[in-house]
Amino acid sequence: MTMASVNPATGQTVQTFDEATDEQVDAAIGRAHDAYRALRGTTFAQRAGWMNAAADLLEGGADDTARMMTTEMGKTLAAAKAEVTKCATACRFYAEHAEEFLADEPADADAVNPTRAFTRYQPIGPVLAVMPWNFPLWQVIRFAAPALMAGNTGLLKHASNVPQTALFLEDLFTRAGYPAGSFQALLIDSKKVERVLTDPRVRAATLTGSERAGRSVAEIAGRELKKTVLELGGSDPFVVMPSADLDRAAQVATTARCQNNGQSCIAAKRFIVHADVYDAFAEKFVAAMSALRVGDPMADGTDVGPLATEKGREDIEEQVRDAVDKGARVLCGGQRPDGPGWYYPPTVVAELTPQMRMYAEEVFGPVAGLYRVSSYAEAIELANGTPFGLGSNAWTRDEAEQQRFAADLDAGSVFVNGMTTSYPQLPFGGVKNSGYGRELSAWGIREFCNVKTVWVG
Ligand code: NAP
Repeated sequence: MTMASVNPATGQTVQTFDEATDEQVDAAIGRAHDAYRALRGTTFAQRAGWMNAAADLLEGGADDTARMMTTEMGKTLAAAKAEVTKCATACRFYAEHAEEFLADEPADADAVNPTRAFTRYQPIGPVLAVMPWNFPLWQVIRFAAPALMAGNTGLLKHASNVPQTALFLEDLFTRAGYPAGSFQALLIDSKKVERVLTDPRVRAATLTGSERAGRSVAEIAGRELKKTVLELGGSDPFVVMPSADLDRAAQVATTARCQNNGQSCIAAKRFIVHADVYDAFAEKFVAAMSALRVGDPMADGTDVGPLATEKGREDIEEQVRDAVDKGARVLCGGQRPDGPGWYYPPTVVAELTPQMRMYAEEVFGPVAGLYRVSSYAEAIELANGTPFGLGSNAWTRDEAEQQRFAADLDAGSVFVNGMTTSYPQLPFGGVKNSGYGRELSAWGIREFCNVKTVWVG
């Protein structure tokens, strides 16, 4: 069996790779287990040295790495370079803060008589990471940097369409100096995930991807009594209230929808606008979406490249067709261009109803759904009325209303007057069908630790 790296801008196969055999996978798990024993005996300072070396390597090779990602999954070169830089920042963040995040925490001496008691955070062993192609470097680094700094080892099952990036990541941590086997890529099909996860040497799993994949991995891990962190899909609301700065809201809405060619879990996907400003916002938003330049992701000035896979483009075409067949109105876009590559234009669809797929499903491409509401209560009901709960946005200059949104939006994050994004310093994750557990910040590094109570009499 082979795995292919295919350029979404042309549809041409760039490179093929042999899938790992069962024997190779077993050997890799063995190496991950041995490396864990070595790594847990190292100091934070040693691990930080290697993590900072990984950051240096990322920065030093940013141009080549970005070109590899753009060729493999179609994001614009500028976005790919920004992703590499963000990854280096996250590596440095955990190199600097891991020791403090995992330091022993003394218990209240009066409450825990008679003497010393504290909480200690310890690594648990090899962790399987099942990752998606959309931010092929960042999704992996935000797991790998805290995991390796904690003293765990990583086994990466990356998405099948980004094998080059998978192998680059394995090589990165080897070159940075981590003991052999600390971080390995397994070129395997998703059907082989069960075999890896049921191996007793693999202690936990993290998955970023679709709800379907999350349920499958969680089921296996449940049977095996292994911890999971799941970062799944989203259909983030972007609520615009009458007091909002409409020019800024419309500009940010455009970026929030079309970043990464519209393929981001935390992209704003449903634009819920108060009737008092609906027409004005719609006009600005449609103008800004129509002005985006769609084209070669390698070219300077391109805003939106192709979708990563042919199937991904077919999926959003079907969702738009379904809405139009049931009475929705396309305000811009909505037609694939002729020619090679899996391009789809920035599209705005209005007059959506619950009978349409777009109303409840995640739309993973540059297609925005526009909704009109007549009150705060209606906005909240619609915003919360999906199975997802990843990120959310609210636009209002009314401070009391900002606080209400922070309290009432059912999501893992609420961003007011700004775009949802991830920061190493802040926890990231979802509620409802968007998953559970958190990545980044101190919360992220503790997810795969044994939180051990130590009591000394
Ligand atoms: P996907 O099809 O679920 O794939 C993600 C990963 O899971 C890939 O490595 C895939 O391997 C693997 N996989 C798929 N089915 C599996 C199964 N039954 N058992 C085990 N592994 C399985 O998702 P995608 O289309 O690549 O990514 C888009 C989705 O990811 C969207 O829903 C998006 O919102 C979500 N996402 C979430 C976050 C977040 O942080 N919450 C971030 C980014 C993306 P193969 O490639 O071999 O199928």
